[in-house]
Amino acid sequence: MKNIIALSFAILSLLMVGTTANGQSSDHAVLFNMTGRNQETDDSQLYSARHMLEIAGIPFIETDQFNEVINGALILFSSPVIDQSFSAEELATLTNWVNDGGVIISPACKKESFSSLFGYGTYIQAKNRYTLIWIDTPLPEFEYFDEPEEKAISLGRSTYSSVIKSYGYTLSDGLSIAVFDSGETAVIKKKTGSGITYLFGVEWRDVIQRGQLNRDFEAQRIYSNGFEPSADVFPLFLRSVWKTINPVMVWKFTIPRGYTTALIPTHDVDARTSYDTMWHMSAYEKSMNFSCHYFMTTRYFKDDYLSASYNSKSVLNIKNVMADGHTIGNHSVGHFPDMDNDDNFPIGEPGLDTSTYKPFYDSSLEKTLNGSTYGEIEVSKNLLTNDLGTPVISFRSGHLLTNESMNTVLEATGHLYNSSFPACDVLTAFPYFEREGYTWSGTLGNVLEIPMMLSDVFSADPISQTNYPEKVAIWKEVVRCQANNYAPNVILIHPTRKWKTDAEKMLIDNLNLSSCGILNFEDYGRFWRQRFDFNFNQTYNPIDSILIISSTSGALTNDSLVCLMIEKPQRVKEIKLTDENQQLYTFTIIPHSDTSELLYINGSTLYTGIEKVAEYDKLFIWPNPASDFIQIRLPEHYGSQSVITIHDLSGRIILSKIVPSGTESFRLELSNIHPGLYQISVSGSRYFAKATLIKLR
Ligand SMILES: [Zn+2]
Repeated sequence: MKNIIALSFAILSLLMVGTTANGQSSDHAVLFNMTGRNQETDDSQLYSARHMLEIAGIPFIETDQFNEVINGALILFSSPVIDQSFSAEELATLTNWVNDGGVIISPACKKESFSSLFGYGTYIQAKNRYTLIWIDTPLPEFEYFDEPEEKAISLGRSTYSSVIKSYGYTLSDGLSIAVFDSGETAVIKKKTGSGITYLFGVEWRDVIQRGQLNRDFEAQRIYSNGFEPSADVFPLFLRSVWKTINPVMVWKFTIPRGYTTALIPTHDVDARTSYDTMWHMSAYEKSMNFSCHYFMTTRYFKDDYLSASYNSKSVLNIKNVMADGHTIGNHSVGHFPDMDNDDNFPIGEPGLDTSTYKPFYDSSLEKTLNGSTYGEIEVSKNLLTNDLGTPVISFRSGHLLTNESMNTVLEATGHLYNSSFPACDVLTAFPYFEREGYTWSGTLGNVLEIPMMLSDVFSADPISQTNYPEKVAIWKEVVRCQANNYAPNVILIHPTRKWKTDAEKMLIDNLNLSSCGILNFEDYGRFWRQRFDFNFNQTYNPIDSILIISSTSGALTNDSLVCLMIEKPQRVKEIKLTDENQQLYTFTIIPHSDTSELLYINGSTLYTGIEKVAEYDKLFIWPNPASDFIQIRLPEHYGSQSVITIHDLSGRIILSKIVPSGTESFRLELSNIHPGLYQISVSGSRYFAKATLIKLR
């Protein structure tokens, strides 16, 4: 019954909005760019709203044209509603649109004429609210909010007398779904006709970009080795709302290769002991077939702070780590303790080398002399690139100390990845592109920050050879929380002692490796670059149950790492994957959970789409992907003897086998089948089911 209501609601809203000329509905959200209307001086509101949509992964278009906003199923306002944001006529249009089934999500509203649309009476703007607490009711919008750190999020540390701007509302006919620590309403949900509005008492820039710029009034409740999703709850809320208004929902998944979460091991090699002992960790990881990432400090000199660690012998050691299948990043030249001091580390000049860059830490002055950001980043990168014969494109600063010129230099020197910010500190586990100068209006660059989530640095009670099992338990708990948000875990372990390998192994032994992938740092970064570049539309027709997923970002290629999550796939009879020119592409569907499937883009082969059978006709096979054999389970009532058939994608029969009646499950050998993608089907007199099989090497 619930489904029927949801479906009819969706049909209704689709008929009202977004119906295209051929009668099919195009389901996308609209980001309404209000920057110009509000005369904003930077794009921080717009960027933050766009980033929420990107992390949510739902299809959207962006426009500043009012007549385009009501062509979608949901409107996200980029900016607070102020006097000049909308005319009275536009308010009337929006009100009618919501009545007819539209959904609006808005940050702060200061325009009195909108109070009826949003269901509030009055508001008080203040800067001394520190926590936002969702009401304790299981709403569908709270699908992801299962941990205490998500049920109450931080807006700034209470030791600050003033934190971000917030708006506490009194209600008229709206429903309070979140309150501030002050007790005032923080988020209002209001049903109007067949539509819904959501009004937030915060501005997007303050809950998204502020954390990324590390100007968040120390909102993090823990610095590292903890779960701090205070920025991530906003895109997760958005994704949940999108799910409630769509009969079938497609979104860009956040972890590659079908995993639910990922552990991304990184190792900072910043001392001579690490250069000498890192082989131990490297060998363990190789034995497990993991490709991990090692950040190297290139200290070619000694000073009062550290001895020299980089020489021809350490280069050989790095090459051995590379031979084990790992990748190498840049961990600065000097690993200085005052790298975050912009006076001691001005941007400096490009083009230095080991003979011209001569920084020195003076312990009597407690500062580094002759240091520069260019020196630290560029000299180290060039040294590693030349010595190793492979371009080094990722960076992590020593002690995770960052300064205002770091991003400018990373951009200028061709770095593509940075991992210098703790995820808790920036309030997000998900990657984002860094801003030049880490300022509101700095240019959005090409360096992808992949924040660090876990590390072997515990400030209060340091990790040791005896207590590391307790620390592993903390790591494991964070991984569990991140997995529920499909979020990654970049972990930093210094390979200084052999028992650190034991700690890493203990963590990995305690993870379910079928749902938690052990992924390479740069591979994960490449996945996100492709994900940011990939845009799509979804069109679902509830009459014929055909789901069309159309890329709007050019041709699809067979090296695409992007995967799409399809929720409520049992309502889909057939899926078509196309580009903008309606060219069809092949794909693979792998079940992810009882209520979701993952779609992988196979490539540019011309193909007419895979017909997908309904849920109850799905053949249960495992393992999948498989290399040597699969097990097939047949339904209880399949009746007579049946025939099992494996087809390749061109329809050619590869294998056909009779299964006697009464068989419940059986094993099928795959050793004679080439690696690739196949359709496997079982047919009996009253039964037909099929599945897609991936045969590995
Ligand atoms: Zn370090």
